[in-house]
Amino acid sequence: MALIWKVDEVVNEIALWPIKKFYPTLIAKRTGLPIDTVFARLLELTNDHKLCVKWELRCPGDNCARTLLVLDEEAIKLRDVFCQYCGQDFCEDDYGDVYDYIYPAFEVCREYKEYLRQSSLQTKKKQPPMKGKKFLN
Ligand SMILES: [Zn+2]
Repeated sequence: MALIWKVDEVVNEIALWPIKKFYPTLIAKRTGLPIDTVFARLLELTNDHKLCVKWELRCPGDNCARTLLVLDEEAIKLRDVFCQYCGQDFCEDDYGDVYDYIYPAFEVCREYKEYLRQSSLQTKKKQPPMKGKKFLN
């Protein structure tokens, strides 16, 4: 369990960054945890309304991989998606499992972001810099 909480720590940290969204790979890199573990935990945080998840459909074209659609739900019937950048045209039949091209992107919920911002401001205000004494006992 403790390892999983590293995910929460990193999420709380990047919540204060000026970024709109992030991918599980970023968290995996920073925590050193396997991507599956990270992803499972991030989904749990969405249930907690700390994060929300969007599904990005990326173009399967060679060297393209641009985001073509952003979906609120992963389960969607996709037909005839056309990439305006490289001209790649694909549908489920041609490309087998279309889910191979769907990637989760996470956003920190506005309320949670605000909460973290407030609490980090308060910690800064309340705690005077430690002088001398290192341990409180
Ligand atoms: Zn493309």
